[in-house]
Amino acid sequence: RYAKRLHKVVRRLVPTCDVRFLLSQSGSGRGAAVVTAVAHRLAAQRRRLDAALAPFLLPPSILQEVRDSMRAELEYGLKSETQAQATVKMLPTYVCGMPDGTEKGKFLALDLGGTNFRVLLVKIKSGRRRSVQMYNKIFAIPLEIMQGTGEELFDHIVQCIAEFLEYMGIKGARLPLGFTFSFPCRQTSIDKGTLVGWTKGFKATDCEGEDVVDMLREAIRRRNEFDLDIVAVVNDTVGTMMTCGYEDPNCEIGLIAGTGTNVCYMEDMKNIEIVEGNEGKMCINTEWGAFGDNGCIDHIRTKYDREVDEGSLNPGKQRYEKMTSGMYLGEIVRQILIDLTKQGLLFRGHISESLRKRGIFETKFLSQIESDRLALLQVRRILQQLGLDSTCEDSIIVKEVCAAVSTRAARLCGAGLAAVVEKKRQNRGVERLQITVGVDGTLYKLHPHFSRILQETVKELAPQCDVTFMLSEDGSGKGAALITAVAKRLHNVGQK
Ligand code: ADP
Ligand code: MG
Repeated sequence: RYAKRLHKVVRRLVPTCDVRFLLSQSGSGRGAAVVTAVAHRLAAQRRRLDAALAPFLLPPSILQEVRDSMRAELEYGLKSETQAQATVKMLPTYVCGMPDGTEKGKFLALDLGGTNFRVLLVKIKSGRRRSVQMYNKIFAIPLEIMQGTGEELFDHIVQCIAEFLEYMGIKGARLPLGFTFSFPCRQTSIDKGTLVGWTKGFKATDCEGEDVVDMLREAIRRRNEFDLDIVAVVNDTVGTMMTCGYEDPNCEIGLIAGTGTNVCYMEDMKNIEIVEGNEGKMCINTEWGAFGDNGCIDHIRTKYDREVDEGSLNPGKQRYEKMTSGMYLGEIVRQILIDLTKQGLLFRGHISESLRKRGIFETKFLSQIESDRLALLQVRRILQQLGLDSTCEDSIIVKEVCAAVSTRAARLCGAGLAAVVEKKRQNRGVERLQITVGVDGTLYKLHPHFSRILQETVKELAPQCDVTFMLSEDGSGKGAALITAVAKRLHNVGQK
């Protein structure tokens, strides 16, 4: 009667619980076997997961190698002998002066090259009422225009400018304009820039090898409605550096970690062999996203990176960018998830329709999933929105995959930046360098860990440099206007 009594007492003591008693058959033997089998399965799973993610863990020695290769590529791009073959193009920008606070006036700025196309009106005041006011309007660039003809693209841009001028009620004004055009351009002056090649999502025809300022001028002429004084073509990195330089004169580097990745910095003229003159400095747009296009980082690229590259608009190009920037991180994660599912490690081995779609896993999901505040249940909800029916274990694995991909991105980006700050330190010939880096880009700003890991990596790999990171507020808009203002000021001085 032992069992019966036990059941009765338990029921009486906890009447709100429905307790069932089940007889075990040889628990010590079978139980031990079951525990072993489960542990075995989990261990095998863990091994395969670790194996898949191992290539994403870059040990310090590899990162030092990446830093050193980046340094070598920076040098190739600056030397006239090697410049033509260099993968990191080190494009001179003809931006030689930083703002000194005397800039003033009204400027138009265009921002093309990111997720959005924008037209801005920027009012800069100098002296004691020093300030920058901005008004902007965002315009969509439809996919068929991004990948249509160059004429269509520039006609569309001019159409947007016309709408903006109308909207602001300044149609008659012939304002100086700074054109932020965030693609590699070979410049011979501040207002001339030949497109080297499209990157990110753009692929309009008949633009590569053409001067973007000429194309814009011609489109304005075709429309024959207003005139603009195009003063400067500006890369977004340069705009970012300038915006931060306006607040902190120690800012001599600009970094973008958004849709793409890129860096610019002030280089000594004497080191820039392809530009005449040895005095002073000039800003160099490194176009470091192309780092690795000669194969020098192929040993750290994974099969997932190769798949992402092959499915991209520009296979074989921008290899470093494809491992480090917003346009691609989500896609790398998707490739890993597909592989893990095929191995039976995720989603019960079932690859959903949506997981097959390129681009479905956006980089913003990495930020959400890796956010420390997000409980696993919420991770599951995000996955559910993607049509992925996940268990709690799946969510843990997905979170691990996201972290592996974003951590590698931040560390690679940090290794590159370490090469740049260390070069600046050696240029100045100082034991310790204090320098500020102006940064823009949604990946840097919104990802919960990217910026911290990047900063830690720079500290690790460039221990003699004290680097301050400064967030840029709209470098593409404000920066373009500041560069236009500085160029105008210097031009006026030249004419006098
Ligand atoms: P751009 O570089 O195009 O000028 P952004 O700096 O805003 O513009 O970057 C946009 C990119 O940032 C998008 O392509 C996307 O990949 C990525 N992104 C958007 N939201 C997030 C987020 N919450 N966390 C991380 N990356 C994001
Ligand atoms: Mg941008």
